[in-house]
Amino acid sequence: MQRRGLLIILSSPSGAGKSTLAKRLMAWDPTLKFSVSATTRAPRSGEEDGREYYFKTKEDFEELVKTNQMLEHAEVFGNYYGTPRGPVELAMTEGRDTLFDIDWQGGQQIRRSALGKDVVSIFILPPSIADLESRLRGRAQDSEEVIAGRMAKSRDEISHWAEYDYVIVNEDVDAAEEELKTILTAERARADRRPGLNEFVRGLNKEFEER
Ligand code: 5GP
Repeated sequence: MQRRGLLIILSSPSGAGKSTLAKRLMAWDPTLKFSVSATTRAPRSGEEDGREYYFKTKEDFEELVKTNQMLEHAEVFGNYYGTPRGPVELAMTEGRDTLFDIDWQGGQQIRRSALGKDVVSIFILPPSIADLESRLRGRAQDSEEVIAGRMAKSRDEISHWAEYDYVIVNEDVDAAEEELKTILTAERARADRRPGLNEFVRGLNKEFEER
């Protein structure tokens, strides 16, 4: 009973705990495929090419866009970010669900694309702006200027919350994780997402008839 893969889009302002939640969801369900984005920003310490991102030059990134190899792309904090198309299409045909950590611009582009009907989009909100700022500072990797830029971008990001199917307020990360798992479990069980179900129910009917 193979169904098409889902495209699970997680967006949030930086510092709302999105990466932690994404990692926990992946640990809960190892069949999920994480969509590794391409970006022109420099790697942070500990980041590995091909794991967190594919790190590209501006020229290489533009070439990928020009040759239609990006499912979506956007400029965030003065750098390009985008989703490579190939791995997503492959996962969908294999019936595997893909998890995206992308901003509202990417979410909007994928939702409006031909793949839109298979999108489940979830927005993570921080419990307060003070909390958001302290989590951003807790990373201790970014300069004051970068933090100020991220706070401004956060306000813009939050303004798009209503475009998403689901919203989770991440006050307690364990509770937020449970909500996320519940959403995924419910979305996977939707009748309109399970084309193989017709055949399964025909089998049940046959069993009825044979009694
Ligand atoms: P960071 O530089 O902190 O890793 O990511 C900055 C922002 O870019 C985050 O909000 C993240 O969700 C977003 N982002 C990461 N990859 C993509 C992508 O492929 N497409 C879009 N539109 N946004 C992305």
